[in-house]
Amino acid sequence: MAAHRPPTTCPTPGERFAVVDPATGEAFDEAPDEQPDELDAVVGRSHEAWRSWRADAGARTTALLKAADAVEAAGADIAPVLTREQGKPLSESYAEIARTAARMRYFAELVPRPEPITDGRPVRSEVRWRPLGPVAAITPWNFPLQLASAKFAPALAAGNTVVLKPSPFTPLATRLLGSVLSTALPENVLTIVTGHEPLGARLASHPGMRHVTFTGSIPTGRAVAQGAAASLARVTLELGGNDAAILLEDVDVEGIAERLFWAAFRNCGQVCMAVKRVYVPARLYSHVVEALGQRARTAVVGAGLDPGTQLGPVNNAPQLARIENYTSQALADGARAVAGGHRLDRPGYFFAPTILADVPPGSPVVTEEQFGPVLPVLPYESLDEAVEAANGTGYGLGGSVWGTDLDRAEEVADRLECGTAWINHHAELSLAQPFAGSKESGVGVAGGPWGLYGNLRPFVVHRPLVEPSPFVEPSPQEA
Ligand code: NAD
Repeated sequence: MAAHRPPTTCPTPGERFAVVDPATGEAFDEAPDEQPDELDAVVGRSHEAWRSWRADAGARTTALLKAADAVEAAGADIAPVLTREQGKPLSESYAEIARTAARMRYFAELVPRPEPITDGRPVRSEVRWRPLGPVAAITPWNFPLQLASAKFAPALAAGNTVVLKPSPFTPLATRLLGSVLSTALPENVLTIVTGHEPLGARLASHPGMRHVTFTGSIPTGRAVAQGAAASLARVTLELGGNDAAILLEDVDVEGIAERLFWAAFRNCGQVCMAVKRVYVPARLYSHVVEALGQRARTAVVGAGLDPGTQLGPVNNAPQLARIENYTSQALADGARAVAGGHRLDRPGYFFAPTILADVPPGSPVVTEEQFGPVLPVLPYESLDEAVEAANGTGYGLGGSVWGTDLDRAEEVADRLECGTAWINHHAELSLAQPFAGSKESGVGVAGGPWGLYGNLRPFVVHRPLVEPSPFVEPSPQEA
C-alpha cells in the first residue's frame, strides 16, 4: 500500500460504526461516527483554508492535476475497498476510479473567463467570476467516488473549499480517496466527514456553507433544500430517476438486446439514469421480453471480488427489501417473472436479475424508482401512448429511443421530458456536457462548464470611460 497521509477528516476521535460487505451481509470494517456538533470546527477550518485556496488559480490547477495522478496511482489500493463496501465488480471499481481522476483533470484545466459587457454606454464593465466559499457535498452509495468527484472537482477548481459527507453505507473508499488527495491538496481544502444522520442534515443547514450540492433520493433532496434555505445557500440537487426506453417498430431486437440489458442492469441496476422501464410495440413484445429474459438468466451474479462476476449484490439491506417489495407487489398484481423475481438463497444481499412482463402500468415497480436489478417491460399500441407513459411520472432524469431510422428516433427523443435523451444507447455521458434532471429529478446543473459556473458567482466591475454626471435618474427597468 502506498504511504498516504491520514485523511483530512474531522480530527476528534469518537465512536465508530460498522461497514457491511453486501456480498456477505457481515461487517468487515468500521468508520468514524462523527457527530453534528463537531461540524462547527470543521467548517471553521474549511473557511480558513478558503482564504489562500481561492487566491491562486494556477496553484489550484497544479494541485488538482497532481491529485488526479495520485488517485490513478492508488487505484490498486482503492478498488478492492470500493468493491468490498459497495458490491460492484472489481473492474467497475477500477473504471470508477479512472473516471474520478479524469473528472479532476477536466475541471483542473477549466478556467472561468472574464466577460466584458458591451451595451453602447460609455462604461467598461466586466463580469469576473468569484468562488462562493465552503461547499457542502453529500453523496449516495451507488458511485461513491465518481459522484464525489462530480462535486469536489468543480467546486475546488472554482476556488471553493469542500466538506464532503459520503453515505454511511460506503464511507471507506471515500475516506481512502481523501487520504490520497491530501498528498496533493493543502490541509482543510477538502475535508471528509463520516457518520449517521443527522450529520448530513446538519451539514446541509450549516450557516457557514455557501453551496450545498447533494446527490441522492428525491425525499432527502427536499429535506436538504429546506435545510439550506436557513442560510440561503445555493443548492444543487441531483436526484432520482425512472428513465424510460422506448423501442420503435423498426428496432433490431437482437442487435440492441445486449446493450439495452446492460443499460438497465449495470451496477446491479443501481444507477440514477439506468433504464428502469421499457416500452415496446405490441407486435415485438414477446420477442423483446424473451431476448431480455435470456440475458437476465445467463448474467453471472456473484461477489464483486470474484473474477467473472458481472452483477454484484444490492448494496444494502433496506434497498434489498425495497426491491423485493416492489417485485412481489407487481407479481401479486398479475405480472409474470420471465427471469428472476426473487432474492437469491445465499448470504448477502443478492437479488436475481429480474425481467417482468404483463405488469399493470400503475404498479409501483413502473411508476417509482426501483433502483435495483429489476426491469418491467410494457407493450404499447401507439407511439403517442408510449411517449405519454414515458413522460407520465414526476421523474425527468434521462430517457432513450431505440430504432434503425435515426432521424425518426431523434424526433421521438425530442419529445421526452428529461435532462438527457439518448438514441440506441443510454447513460453515456461526456465530462463536457451539462447534466441536469428536469421535473423532480434535479435542481441546478452539474457537468461541463455549467458545473464549474454552478460553483461561482458573477461579480461585476463597472468603470466609467467618461466622467459620470452627478446624478442620473434610473430608467424604470433599472430601478
Ligand atoms: P439518500 O437520499 O438516502 O442518501 C443520500 C445521501 O444523503 C447519503 O449520504 C445520506 O446519508 C444523506 N442523507 C440522508 N438523510 C439526510 C438528510 N436529512 N439531510 C442531508 N443528508 C441526508 O439516497 P441513497 O439511497 O444513498 O441513493 C440512492 C438515490 O440517489 C436514488 O434515488 C438515485 O437515483 C439517486 N442518485 C441520483 C443521481 C443523479 O445524479 N441524479 C446519481 C446517483 C444516485
